Amino acid sequence: MEKNKIQPSTLYLVATPIGNLEDITLRALKVLRDCDFIAAEDTRVTAKLLSAYEIAKPMISYEKHRLRSAGEEILRRLGEGKSCALVTDAGTPAISDPGEELVALCLARGFAVVPIPGPCAAITALILSGLPTGRFVFEGFPDGKPGEKRRVPETLEGERRTMIFYEAPHRLARTTAELAEVFGPSRRAVFCRELTKLNEEAIRLTLGEARERFAKETPRGEFVIIVEGRPESAGGFWEGMSIPEHVAWYRETLGLDRMAAIKAAAKDRGLPKNEVYRALLGD
Ligand code: SAM
Repeated sequence: MEKNKIQPSTLYLVATPIGNLEDITLRALKVLRDCDFIAAEDTRVTAKLLSAYEIAKPMISYEKHRLRSAGEEILRRLGEGKSCALVTDAGTPAISDPGEELVALCLARGFAVVPIPGPCAAITALILSGLPTGRFVFEGFPDGKPGEKRRVPETLEGERRTMIFYEAPHRLARTTAELAEVFGPSRRAVFCRELTKLNEEAIRLTLGEARERFAKETPRGEFVIIVEGRPESAGGFWEGMSIPEHVAWYRETLGLDRMAAIKAAAKDRGLPKNEVYRALLGD
């Protein structure tokens, strides 16, 4: 079997540029040209990419609201011996994008899956960040259902590895405030925007500085937020405690009243008192 020849009944996961059209691999172009059809998250977005490289190919839509029906259609065609290239609007399929379900279905039905690696915003931001890259955690979008109280998980508080988050511009201020609350205002972070584009920028701030800045103005573009893991020297006896546990410790162990305990916990964590208070209310 020739390694680079398109194979029948095979799903190809093709990474595409996250901004700069030139960031597409020769192999990705070959697969897009030679496959039988393309499954695209948004066919209009992919049409622009194909037109830039003069590729004409039948497409079907594979977007998040019709993963099941479109998935069945893709599997049916794979069953007929056709080859499919799955692409999303930008970056690597199945990374905070459609693809994961289709890969699982293909594998369950015995179809081959071949990755065609390329751009991924998370990795691009990580290598630009200047923070440790040896070990890292990808958290994707710190989202939750509308009305949910906290979205950045407090369980990450003690995480020592570098953390990667995706975020949309309209939620940047809120997410940054949550990050500052969970990790403390002195934790370093890098806000990477417009990666691979003309106005690519890595904004390096502490979470406290970022909270203040983004409360006033939100820079344009999509963001990858890289947060430093907990430094070895950080923390005190309260390491690993949640905010309510921290306050309870002061009350139960030192017998402080509620306000004094809140004040002490806020000082330890470098947080404003009202943030500790809000955490106690489950806000
Ligand atoms: N599958 C994609 C990948 O491999 O990176 C991610 C898709 S996810 C729906 C979109 C998110 O990726 C954006 O909200 C943003 O956090 C990040 N992103 C994508 N392109 C970016 C860029 N050029 N600059 C900064 N962040 C970007």
